[in-house]
Amino acid sequence: MSSSESGPASARTRREPPRFRPVRVRRVEHSSPRLVRVTLSGPDLEGMTVEEPAASVRLLLPASGTDGLVMPRWNGNEFLLPDGRRPTIRTFTPRRLDRDAFELDIEAVVHGDGVASKWAAAVGPGGPAAISGPGRGYLIDRQAPAFLLVGDETAIPAISQLLEGLPTETPNHVHIEVARPDARLALPRHPRAMIDWHDLPPGAAPGDTLVDAVRNADLSPGARVWAAGEAAAMQRIRRHLFEERSWSRGDTTVRGYWKHGRAGDGEK
Ligand SMILES: Cc1cc2nc3c(=O)[nH]c(=O)nc-3n(C[C@H](O)[C@H](O)[C@H](O)COP(=O)(O)OP(=O)(O)OC[C@H]3O[C@@H](n4cnc5c(N)ncnc54)[C@H](O)[C@@H]3O)c2cc1C
Repeated sequence: MSSSESGPASARTRREPPRFRPVRVRRVEHSSPRLVRVTLSGPDLEGMTVEEPAASVRLLLPASGTDGLVMPRWNGNEFLLPDGRRPTIRTFTPRRLDRDAFELDIEAVVHGDGVASKWAAAVGPGGPAAISGPGRGYLIDRQAPAFLLVGDETAIPAISQLLEGLPTETPNHVHIEVARPDARLALPRHPRAMIDWHDLPPGAAPGDTLVDAVRNADLSPGARVWAAGEAAAMQRIRRHLFEERSWSRGDTTVRGYWKHGRAGDGEK
C-alpha cells in the first residue's frame, strides 16, 4: 500500500533520504569563469559509491550569510534545522568520487544569485558542507544506435560523464547552451561526438536554444535522448518529443535541473 493510501498520519511520512555525510572543502578550481569545481573530502565519505553517470547528490550548505554548518534532522517528511527553519540544500552531479582519497568533486555554475552559486564562488579550503546520496543516475544502453545529449551549463558535469561512459563506437550529438561565450570548456573526448555550443541570445528564455536544437535534431530510429536544464525549457522539449514527434518515452530522459525565478532545484 502506498503511503497516500494508508491514512492521514502516515501520508505525511516519507522515506528518509541517505544521511548527510559531513565534509570539508579541500580544493577549489575554476573549470571556466562560470563553473567552479569544488573538491569535498572527509572520512565520512567512506562507503559512498556512485555507479551511474548523471547521478545526483544533495549538498547541505551553511545558511546564507553564515560560515558554520548546522546538521538538520529528518522529521519524517523533510530535513529541518533544530530551530525549525529549512536547511540550505541544493542538488549537484557527483562529478568525481575518489574512494581512496575520500574525495568528491562537484562543479557548480556561478550564475550569481543563489546560495550555492555564491558559496562556490567564495568558499576556500576548510569550508564545511555535507553530502547525501547519491540519487539515481542514467543507465547507458550500450546497444543504442545513437545519442542526443542536450543541456545547459548545469548539465555540463553530467554530459561530461555521459561522454566518458558512452561506447566509443556510438555516434552522439551534444548541444550545450551557455549564458556567456566564456562558459565553453573542453569536454571529455569521444571519437564519435559532434558538439555544438549555443549562446543564449540576450532576452531569450533559458533553454530556448536547446528547445530549437531538439526540434531540428535528426533523430535516427531508436536513438536515445538525454536532456537536462531549466525546468520550463525541459517541459517544452518533452512536449515536442512526445506530442509532436511521438518519440518513445522509454528512449527519453529529460530532467528539470533548476527553475527560472525560484530557489532550489527544478525537480520539486
Ligand atoms: C539531478 C540534478 C543535478 C544537478 N547538477 C548540477 C551541477 O552539477 N552543477 C550545477 O551548477 N547545478 C546542478 N543542478 C542544478 C542546481 O541544483 C540548481 O541550479 C540550483 O538552483 C543552484 O542553487 P543556487 O543556490 O545557486 O540557486 P537557487 O538559490 O536555487 O536559485 C536562486 C535564483 O537563481 C536562479 N538559478 C538557479 N540556477 C541557475 C542557473 N544555473 N543559471 C541561472 N539562474 C539560476 C533561480 O531560478 C533563482 O531565481 C542540478 C540539479 C539536479 C536536479
